[in-house]
Amino acid sequence: GLRGHRGWTPAWRKATPQPGYDAIIVGGGGHGLATAYYLAKNHGVPRVAVLEKGWIGGGNTGRNTTAIRSNYFYPESVALYDLALRLYEGLSQALNYNIMLSQRGMLIAAHTPTQMEICARIANAMQLNGVDGELIGAEEALQRVPLLNRTADARYNCMGGVWQQRAGIARHDAVAWGYARAASALGVDIIENCTVTDLLIESGKITGVETDKGSIRAERVGLAAAGATPGLASMAGIRLPIHTYALQAFVSEPVKPMLDTVLLYLGTGTYVSQSDKGELVFGGGLDRVPTHGQRGNLPAQEAVVSGLLEMFPAFAQLKLLRQWAGVVDVTPDSSPVIGPAGPEGLFLNCGWGTGGFKAIPAGGWLLAHLLATGGHHEISRPFDLDRFARGRLIDEAAGSGIAH
Ligand code: FAD
Repeated sequence: GLRGHRGWTPAWRKATPQPGYDAIIVGGGGHGLATAYYLAKNHGVPRVAVLEKGWIGGGNTGRNTTAIRSNYFYPESVALYDLALRLYEGLSQALNYNIMLSQRGMLIAAHTPTQMEICARIANAMQLNGVDGELIGAEEALQRVPLLNRTADARYNCMGGVWQQRAGIARHDAVAWGYARAASALGVDIIENCTVTDLLIESGKITGVETDKGSIRAERVGLAAAGATPGLASMAGIRLPIHTYALQAFVSEPVKPMLDTVLLYLGTGTYVSQSDKGELVFGGGLDRVPTHGQRGNLPAQEAVVSGLLEMFPAFAQLKLLRQWAGVVDVTPDSSPVIGPAGPEGLFLNCGWGTGGFKAIPAGGWLLAHLLATGGHHEISRPFDLDRFARGRLIDEAAGSGIAH
């Protein structure tokens, strides 16, 4: 059937590296591509290149479970993730590319009085920050997710939780491809199969990058390479407080519609949604050993699957179709790093850990601002690397029990 479509035009140009650019972005994931798009669109920077060692969206952006939300605890985080959510809400129109955003709502389910208190605290924080979020009881939670295990012998009986209606999912590939197409149309060079092997620095200033396709000059360089960013930053002598772990995702065989929300279970850490195709897409916590392997280990798989079955015993009948992992970049406070680092002209967008898909539009918006102006946007300032030296952590791991 596809033979009839020979006349299709590529969505983005296959660019070859030029000797120099106004700005280079390392990493063709969602954050790198969004940065390039906003650099061209918001700031009119004419000569921008995205350098990707594989294919665009082949990193975590194409491997994640696509949950989007802004139910965080600290005002700094809410400002960041709600900017992303607002941009996501208009993104299909802005890019003229259907990212399949489905704001089906998300429930963070609680199973103990203590978890309910945490949920109440998160809901209150969201409302104080002007973001939609409400505390709901067991009855409403079970109405929204009727298949939840509610038998007398259920180990984790749902007591209620935090509900965010504007949360949901979007098609991850479409986000990468949509930004790539729109950036390319604005003149951005997207260069795939191009690995950055070194950072070029002269007299304390960044002057470009070395790649397996030769050196490319630029006075502004942004690193948006997720789990590979610490290695890249070390080329400039910067030691980032980031550990890289595998995070796995799982997909079941497709079944008829039965779950029309995103659900995260605080008791097990497992979360799940159903794709438009009917597959259950689910995941859980990190593999606990730092690694750059994109595979994942069996004990973590067992923990995630057993968590799913605690919630939905009926799912035991389903077959697991696929499993994979991405390499995520985790900071001590589970918040990202956005800002300048080391030599003049070098900027970071990393440390998104398990939750950076939902942040892609904001991460790109803010790194573009830094690259274009040299200074912080007010939303990115709290996420500067210097917060670790100043002790001004934004500890979402403790604040919102962060999970994707
Ligand atoms: P990536 O998409 O990883 O892009 C970085 C790119 O840099 C890669 O393509 C890589 O090839 C490239 N690169 C690396 N080194 C070099 C080099 N030397 N030269 C050139 N290029 C290089 N987030 C959510 O919000 N919701 C979720 O539900 C969610 N679920 C997840 C589930 C899983 C299994 C995983 C792995 C992650 C999940 N995340 C989720 C996290 C989210 O996917 C990431 O935080 C986000 O995609 C990071 O985007 P990025 O553009 O920074 O990185």
